[in-house]
Amino acid sequence: MRDHILDKECIVCHKTYAMDEVELTCPACGIEGILDVRYDYDLIRDQLPAHLAKESCRDIFRYAHLLPLRRDGRRPQIPVGQTPLYQADRLAGHLGMSSLYVKDDGRLPTASFKDRASAIAVARAHELNIGLICAASTGNAAASLAGLTAPEGITSVIFVPESAPPAKIAQLLTFGAKVFAVRGTYDDAFELSLLAAERYGWYSRSTAVNPILSEGKKTGTLELMEQLGFDNPPDTILVSVGDGCIIGGLAKGLKDLWELGMIPTLPRLIGVQAEGSRVIHDVFHSGSEVMVPVAPTTRADSISVAWPRDWLKAVRGVRWSQGTMVTVTDQEIFQAGLLLGRFAGVFAEPAGATPAAGLVKLLEEGVISPTERVALFVTGNGLKDVAGASMAAGSPMSAGKLEEGLRDIEQSGILD
Ligand SMILES: *Cc1c(COP(=O)(O)O)cnc(C)c1O
Ligand SMILES: [Zn+2]
Repeated sequence: MRDHILDKECIVCHKTYAMDEVELTCPACGIEGILDVRYDYDLIRDQLPAHLAKESCRDIFRYAHLLPLRRDGRRPQIPVGQTPLYQADRLAGHLGMSSLYVKDDGRLPTASFKDRASAIAVARAHELNIGLICAASTGNAAASLAGLTAPEGITSVIFVPESAPPAKIAQLLTFGAKVFAVRGTYDDAFELSLLAAERYGWYSRSTAVNPILSEGKKTGTLELMEQLGFDNPPDTILVSVGDGCIIGGLAKGLKDLWELGMIPTLPRLIGVQAEGSRVIHDVFHSGSEVMVPVAPTTRADSISVAWPRDWLKAVRGVRWSQGTMVTVTDQEIFQAGLLLGRFAGVFAEPAGATPAAGLVKLLEEGVISPTERVALFVTGNGLKDVAGASMAAGSPMSAGKLEEGLRDIEQSGILD
């Protein structure tokens, strides 16, 4: 059952392909020819609202009408989705805002947003009867693929930069992935994964080249809107941006709901990049569709990218939502990690804290007003990068300094 899917359209030359005709990028345009899955909105408009009203499945497959798969196909064993949405009142108060929501995707099964895409890749592998999936990753996409394929008996082959945080590599190896550490950057790992996939005919989960990944990522906004109530969307949504696949996907989710008439207003999407990896930000503000790679320098490894693969979908998605892009320094990112921890109880890896840094900056600049209803995505858990967290949070006091510590607590007035 797949009558909800029309075809896939190349975002560069606009040629269309039947669902099974081409699996990855547009043959006419090559690697830049990212495909976009198109749906039969008329059919879905008739079916989806009633379906959601009675559907008891809480994971991302509750939105099967908007996913690039058979609606009755085999699902991954590990459910993905339905992450908690917190009303972060204390953090909002600290920032002088009236309303702030935090969607904590660090609580997905392998602790990053990437699970939303991997779940779709696994389901597609079952449709195609594929026993091996490969991917390049800064760490999270790989850990996610490895974790979700493990119970399926599907082999995962992973290319990561040698410099990926140790927790992410340990996670991969624990899940039994075949891991190749590349002496080089994420971009080098990406090139190698493309070569290997082509040479051995492997199915690729590398970001952007596989168009069904952003369809998984869009479940972030589908879920957020349903949690808030479809008739009650926020004004602004913030997320961090590396390759651009997440934000492009979130835009797609909003577009689906908008086309279906399920949301009365369109939230604007704000993408936050690290100062040291700002390619998509720069394309956005140039007003053009010309991408110029840079050598990345940020400590936020998950968004450290020289050549963002999904930049065009990202830029078009942000423009379509009348949103914007902003950059923040690594110091601002680490400060934001402490804010999320201390005022919202959310432990984020650096890339996960990046949207909060963007929020602080845009409130100061008046781009976001304190009365707006804002939601931000935390895309990765702090346990992914303990060294980074310790750098910002410091060390515990020695028990030998107990009296001094108690004096501090007394003076702070919290005992009164
Ligand atoms: C991958 C990732 C991002 C960025 O997503 P892109 O699709 O590359 O823009 C942000 N945060 C975390 C934790 C990630 O793993
Ligand atoms: Zn094309």
